[in-house]
Amino acid sequence: MTTVEVAIVGAGPVGLTTALGLARRGVSVVLLEKDEQLGRFWRASTFHPPSLDVAADLGIVDDMLEAGLVAPMYQLRDFRTGIVARFDLNAISDETAWPFRLQLEQYKYSNIVAAAVQTRPEAQIRFSSAVTGMRIHDDHVELEINGSETLTASWVVAGDGSSSIVRELAGIAFEGETYPSRRLLLSIEESLNELVPDLDLVNYVYAPVGAGMVLRIPDLWRVMFTIPSGIDDATARSVEYYGSRLSELLGVQPEVVSTQVYYIHQKVAASMRRGRVLLVGDAAHANSPTGGMGLNSGIHDAFDLITTLTSESADLDRALDAWADRRRRAAVEEVHRVSRRNTVDLGEPDDVARGRKQDDVRAIAQDSQQAKEWLMESSMIASVRRHPIGVGRVAPYTTGPRSFVAEVVR
Ligand SMILES: Cc1cc2nc3c(=O)[nH]c(=O)nc-3n(C[C@H](O)[C@H](O)[C@H](O)COP(=O)(O)OP(=O)(O)OC[C@H]3O[C@@H](n4cnc5c(N)ncnc54)[C@H](O)[C@@H]3O)c2cc1C
Repeated sequence: MTTVEVAIVGAGPVGLTTALGLARRGVSVVLLEKDEQLGRFWRASTFHPPSLDVAADLGIVDDMLEAGLVAPMYQLRDFRTGIVARFDLNAISDETAWPFRLQLEQYKYSNIVAAAVQTRPEAQIRFSSAVTGMRIHDDHVELEINGSETLTASWVVAGDGSSSIVRELAGIAFEGETYPSRRLLLSIEESLNELVPDLDLVNYVYAPVGAGMVLRIPDLWRVMFTIPSGIDDATARSVEYYGSRLSELLGVQPEVVSTQVYYIHQKVAASMRRGRVLLVGDAAHANSPTGGMGLNSGIHDAFDLITTLTSESADLDRALDAWADRRRRAAVEEVHRVSRRNTVDLGEPDDVARGRKQDDVRAIAQDSQQAKEWLMESSMIASVRRHPIGVGRVAPYTTGPRSFVAEVVR
């Protein structure tokens, strides 16, 4: 039997972030990953300013900036008429060192964090190590690995994603809903910004059949839209179908190199803690990706947990209960609220109601005070101010030649 201070289940981006933060603060951690290597998922692609504050604390922000694309502008557009409103994050440059979104593939973030974890003597990543059982005791937790080995840890952090086995073994319910509509995710290597010249790197699209997104990430463009209920997955993935939807949404039909269908969940764990078991990331909450908040909020869970566990609080039990409560409220009151609103508003089926919503957003974008409030919310800065995660304020980023303007894309 092996004994460690903290066992983290799942080497996804949130588990890795937790491991790096704890190891940098001298805590011995073992990260258990069921797969043979890190995942290469086409999922998160947007990092908001508070997550870059966390990355700065963890010593990885320069690598992220090097690998990603700086997106200071984003837009909301109508599927028929084009741009409705554009927001410039420079309007909040007095509030953050990073007045932009960083567009970076999730798997590249994971690789950057994993490389940093591997330099730490306090941390070990074990691949092909699936957690299959768990017993929670008052002063430790026993994990069963691959159905045979036992590992004992003072604390277990569940970063094993939305189907979390640790959450299930801890008897914690995952409450909420799965939206009936599915989304189609298309990857496009062609220069979409040359075909549709008024695109920004991040674009949200109003459409009567459901919200759409057009996002630039370093390697390619990604277009996501809602699949109506009468269309099955195979039809949705056919060139004929997605070609006509691309024409409708953007007026062009670029070549698509891969397709993926996914469901949207708005769920939250009944509690983020049971004794010595702590849930982070998608194991604790799942949400619509419109607005790019899922992974970001997982990174915030992780950082808040790192600072809480290492705070030397006289009453750690109480501090962890407060952490669990704070992060659950952030998931429901901030991430669920904003991502649901984004998804519903962009997908408003009624033309008149959709037009009214667009008028409201136009008015917000034209009023500097309201635009700033909108940006504080969509950048998640307001969220971490209402539910502080313990990250220090980072001085404006002035080193290096990078200017805060949209990168030239292919
Ligand atoms: C299309 C799409 C776009 C998105 N875009 C964004 C975005 O722009 N911004 C954003 O913030 N979020 C976005 N998200 C959400 C984001 O991808 C997730 O929030 C993120 O992956 C959660 O990371 P995680 O580490 O908690 O879980 P996961 O990434 O699911 O990782 C869980 C890990 O645990 C491992 N594991 C599972 N079970 C076990 C076990 N029994 N034992 C050991 N290991 C185990 C898995 O193999 C995996 O490596 C998007 C999601 C989708 C689907």
